[in-house]
Amino acid sequence: MRYISTRHGSQGTPAPLGFEDIMLAGLARDGGLYLPADWPQFSTAEIAALKGLSYTELAFRIMRPFVGDTFDEATFRRLIAEAYASFETPDVAPLKPLGNSGLHLLELFHGPTLAFKDVALQLLGRMLDQTLTARSQHATIVGATSGDTGSAAIEAVRDRKTIDIFMLFPKGRVSEVQRRQMTTVSAPNVHNIAVQGTFDDCQDLAKACFNDLAFRDRHALTAVNSINFARVMAQIVYYFWAALKLGAPERPVAFTVPSGNFGNVYAGYAAKQMGLPISHFVVGTNSNDILARFFETGIMTTTEVVPTFSPSMDIQISSNFERLLFDLYDRNGVTLADAMTAFRSTGTLKVGANALAGVRALFDAGRVDEPGTLAAIADCRRRFGETIDPHTAVGYVVAQQHRRDPAVPMVVLATAHPAKFPDAVEKATGVRPPLPARLGDLMDRAERVDGLRNDIGELKAMIDERRAMATTPATRSKVRT
Ligand SMILES: *Cc1c(COP(=O)(O)O)cnc(C)c1O
Repeated sequence: MRYISTRHGSQGTPAPLGFEDIMLAGLARDGGLYLPADWPQFSTAEIAALKGLSYTELAFRIMRPFVGDTFDEATFRRLIAEAYASFETPDVAPLKPLGNSGLHLLELFHGPTLAFKDVALQLLGRMLDQTLTARSQHATIVGATSGDTGSAAIEAVRDRKTIDIFMLFPKGRVSEVQRRQMTTVSAPNVHNIAVQGTFDDCQDLAKACFNDLAFRDRHALTAVNSINFARVMAQIVYYFWAALKLGAPERPVAFTVPSGNFGNVYAGYAAKQMGLPISHFVVGTNSNDILARFFETGIMTTTEVVPTFSPSMDIQISSNFERLLFDLYDRNGVTLADAMTAFRSTGTLKVGANALAGVRALFDAGRVDEPGTLAAIADCRRRFGETIDPHTAVGYVVAQQHRRDPAVPMVVLATAHPAKFPDAVEKATGVRPPLPARLGDLMDRAERVDGLRNDIGELKAMIDERRAMATTPATRSKVRT
C-alpha cells in the first residue's frame, strides 16, 4: 500500500510513502493529508466471509492491507489484541438496538478514557512504540486539546520509553473529568501543560513547534491528532463490525456520526469505498455548524466558535474534510492545494454544482442547538431507557430527521460515555451519571500539571529542558513535578 498527500504535485512530485512513514509524520510536508493511493477492495463474498469474527480478528483482516509488511503478522495481531484488551468488553464496540425504532447505538466509549478516540489511539500508541523500538528512535508528541484527544493520547503512550508527550490545554476551559484524565497520569513521559489562553492559543503554540524545522527535527516531533491516517484506518473497522451485525453485505446500513473534525465520518466513507454497502451518512453538528452549512449549500465559510454542551465538536474548520474534498476535486492535488490556500486567506471555499450533487447523494447533515441537545438526552432516556452523552444526543436527533428508508437500519455512533459530561446529562435528566467503577477514584487522585504563559519561547525551553533531563539516564526517573 502506497500513500499520497491530498496536495500531491503542488510542491514537486514526492515519492509515494509507505505506512510507517505516514504514521510517524502525521501531516504531509506539503501541508496536505495522507491517504492511500487506492482503497483496498472487499468483494461481496469477502465481506460475507467476515461475518461472526471477533472484533480483534475483524480488525486484523480490515487493517492488514493498509499496514502491508510494516509489521509481521504475529506482531500486528499482538498489537491489536493488546490495544483492545484495554477495553471494558471483548466486543470493543457493542451495538444496541433502541427498541423497535430501527435505530441502533454503536457504543464506542468502552476504552480507558470513555470516548471513541481510544479505539484508534490505543492502537496507534502501540504501533508507534513498536516502530520506534525497532528503529532505536525516540519521538516527541506535541499536541493541543480541548478535551478528549488529550486524555486518549496520553493514555495511549503513557510509560513508553520511546515517546514523550507534551499536551497543551487551555487552563480552566476543559471539564474537570477531562482535566483529571490527563493530569492524574503519573508516568514520567507525560507532560501536561495548562496554558493561560484559549484552545486556539494552544493549537497555535503546537503548530509553531512544528513550523520550527530545526526544533521539529531535534525532537522528532510527531502528531497524533485526527489528521494522522492511522487513526482513520483503525476507525474503519467498526463500520464493518456494525454493518455485518445488521445484515451486510446482503442488506445496506446507514450511519449517523456526531462530527467535528470529520475524522470519524470520513472513516465510514473509506469503508464504503472499500466495498461496504452503506446507503448514506448523516453528519450531525452542534451550533458550530460549518459542516451542516457545507452540505446544504456547497459553500464552506468559517465563523466564530461558540462553546456548547458537546465541546469535542466545537470547531471552526474540520481538518479531515480536506480528504473528502480531494475526491470532489477529482483527486487533483494541485487544484486542491490552491483551493485550500485561498480558503485560508478568504475563509470561504465553494464546490461546483456537480460535486455538490455527488456528495449530497451520500451525505445528509443537520444541526442541533443547545435546548435540542438536552431535550434529546431526556427523550432517549424516557423512550428507550438509554442515557446518552451530549455528542451522541446530536446524532440521535439528526438520525431521526434523515431516515431515507425505514427498512434500512440506522446506526448512531455513540462517541462518549455519559459520565464524561455529567453536568449536561444531569441538567437534561435530573440524574448524575456515575463514573464507571474502574475510574471511580479519578476525583481523588493527585494531579500533576505545569502552568505556562502563552509564549512559544517558554514552551520550547520547557521541552528542551525536559528532554535533556530525560536523556540523562540517572535523572530519567526523577522527571516529575
Ligand atoms: C472528537 C469527538 C467527536 C468528533 O469527532 P471527529 O472525528 O472530530 O468528527 C465527537 N464526539 C466526541 C465525544 C469526540 O470526542
